[in-house]
Parts: sequence; structure tokens; C-alpha cells
Amino acid sequence: MTVGCGGGDLEELELAVRKFQARSERRVDFKRLRVVVDALEGEFAVEARESQKAGEHLVGGHVGAATWIGLTCGMSQTSAGDRLCVGEQLEELPKIAAALGSGEISYQSTSLLCHLRRKLEDKKDLFDEEDMLDKARWCTFKELNDLCRTAWHVCNPDGFFNEGEADFSRRRLHISRLADGMHVIDGVLDPVSGSALKKALEPLAKKQGPEDDRKPSQRMADAIGEFVNHGLDQGTLPRRNGVRPHVTVTTTLEGLKNELGAPPADFELSLPLSTRTLERVSCDCTMTRVLLADSMVIDVGRATRVISGPTRTALGKRDGGCRWPGCDRRVSWSTPHHFVAWARGGPTTLDNLVLLCYFHHRLVHEGGWQVIKKGREFRFVPPERVVMRRARGPGLRWAA
Ligand SMILES: [Zn+2]
Ligand SMILES: [Zn+2]
Repeated sequence: MTVGCGGGDLEELELAVRKFQARSERRVDFKRLRVVVDALEGEFAVEARESQKAGEHLVGGHVGAATWIGLTCGMSQTSAGDRLCVGEQLEELPKIAAALGSGEISYQSTSLLCHLRRKLEDKKDLFDEEDMLDKARWCTFKELNDLCRTAWHVCNPDGFFNEGEADFSRRRLHISRLADGMHVIDGVLDPVSGSALKKALEPLAKKQGPEDDRKPSQRMADAIGEFVNHGLDQGTLPRRNGVRPHVTVTTTLEGLKNELGAPPADFELSLPLSTRTLERVSCDCTMTRVLLADSMVIDVGRATRVISGPTRTALGKRDGGCRWPGCDRRVSWSTPHHFVAWARGGPTTLDNLVLLCYFHHRLVHEGGWQVIKKGREFRFVPPERVVMRRARGPGLRWAA
């Protein structure tokens, strides 16, 4: 890159920066520092625009100036594009350019105004420089951002719609299964679906009592599980091949009874499932008996629900939701749990059942908590934890 006129000035600036970096007083007023950085960002934007007008990017064989500046300066194409937009708009916005240079408004606010003016396209005359500059002086960045979006929508609804549609085409969601059976979710959602999902999950992801030691991210992951399982349980999802969507667990009678040496259950016909999880799943599921002879299916029985409809209704009436102390999950968000496991001969009568939500049901099966029924009351007993004790070093007390 050639340095034309102004090379000496740039050299002076470089020297001043080096001197500043070597200062003995480490703390400075960071607001004033930001003003300097922002003013220089404005200068950079103007220079980038000049370079674009001179067609310097074409010399290197690049079609787009943003790509070329990005490559030259180690910036993303989006950042380089932003500087070019600011540089271009400031040519016709002298008051805003001066306000940026003097530190009255920040670079990011300037950028918002410049992008707004460009988005107005042939209606850019509606952009009142004086008025918008005043807004940038007094609004917070977020307020200015909202204001610019509203102004864009009001002045150029077609442009607003088109960009919204272009954004919408970026939506995607991938759910891929890892070798160990865990799933990775990666995606971008449109504004409406994204906020709807967040709104739906947040109440489900709240801490559920003092024994809830899950991290926020784990609670969000559990919330997705609870939400999806609830959706499946409602039985209102569209049928696929005439069957309601559900997950299938395959096991043997021995496996269900947790007999020693029995093969593990299969989840979706591929992954082994632990006995504890199998017991949780079988607390409330629909069973289909399949008889095999030499791996050939010779008989398939009718699908029957472990807990009948009337018992389910009576249980819902009695418990009203998850019975864990302090839990707020109502009936439709709870699942019946057997005190004595159904697979081990536990009856499906009210005496042997209690409603628990997804999280607390898991705490009982996989977490080792016990539910004890005393008359009409239930007691929840934590697992006996084996506390590992280890020395922290000589002379220190044993860690609890
Ligand atoms: Zn259970
Ligand atoms: Zn609960």
C-alpha cells in the first residue's frame, strides 16, 4: 500500500501513540481515551472511503473494497463494510462528522446514523441531520438503535421488509448426535421464533429448590427436554406414518426387571440405556410386547399404557402437580412415579404412585433421592453422599 500525502502526519501520530503506550502513569480517563479512538475510527472510515473511490482495491484484483480492506487490515468484511458506509455517508453529513471528530458522539452512534441514512435509499432526504445528531447526543446507544430501526421502518417499509426477509433466510438448525449419544444443537432462529423459544424455556429453566445445583446452561438444556417431552406427551403433534411421534426404548423382560446379566435397553434401537433411566422411562410409558424367536418377530401385542386413563385422572386430582416441596409444575407438566417400580411388580394403583415433574423425577431415579409415603404425606430423602476427604497439604485441616 502506498502512503501518499499525510505520511508525515501519520508518523507523528504513530510516535505519539508509542509515547502514550510507554507512559508511566498506567491509569487514564478511559472515556477520553475512547473519544480519541472513536475520532481515529472516523478518520479511518474517511480514508477507507477515499481508497475505495480511488479504486485501490481493483489494483489487487479484488472486486469489493470491503474484502480488500478486510484482508489488508485484518478486519472482518462486515467491519470493513461498516467503515466504508460511514466514510461514504460522512461526505454528506458534515455536522455529524464534526461531532464525531470533537468527541460529542461516539463512533458507534455515528455508524448507526450512517447506516440508517444509507438504508433510506432514495428517501434519504427524509434524514434530518440536525435532528438525528441531537438524538445521538442525548440517547443511549440502545435507544438510538431502536429509534433508527423505527425510523427505517417508517421511512422505507419496503427496504425494512426486504432486509428482514434476507435475515430470515439465514435461519437454520442442526441437531446432530455424537458417538456417545449426546446431541449438539447449533442454529440461528428468526427474531419471532427465537424470542418465543426463549420465552417458553426461561420459566422452565428457573432454579427448582435448594437441591437444584444445576448451572444456568444445564437448566436451559433440561428446559428444552421438558418442553419437548411435554409436547410429545400432549399427543397433539402431527402424526408421522399414522403414528404419533414418540421415542422408542427396546428391552428384554430380564432387562426390565433389572436382572443380573441382562442386556442393556436400547434407546431408539441403537444406544444402550442405563437401568435407572430405563426404570424412569417405564414409570409412565406405553408398552408393546414383541415376541422373538431366533431374532424373528413372531408376535406383536397391543400397545398398552402402563397407567390407565382413570388412574391418571385420579392421580392428577389428588396431587395437582409435582409433589416435591415448593415445586410449581402442574399436572400436565408432571409424570407419574411408582414407589415400587412397575417392572418389579409395583402396582399401578394410587397408593403406589406420586406425580413428579421432569427434573424431580430424574432426581429420584438417577439422582438417588428417595420418596417415602407417610399416610397422605410424602417425604423426600436425599441420597447418602460419600464425601471424599483429602488433605490439602501439611498442617492444613481436612477438607469437608
Ligand atoms: Zn419414576
Ligand atoms: Zn417438581
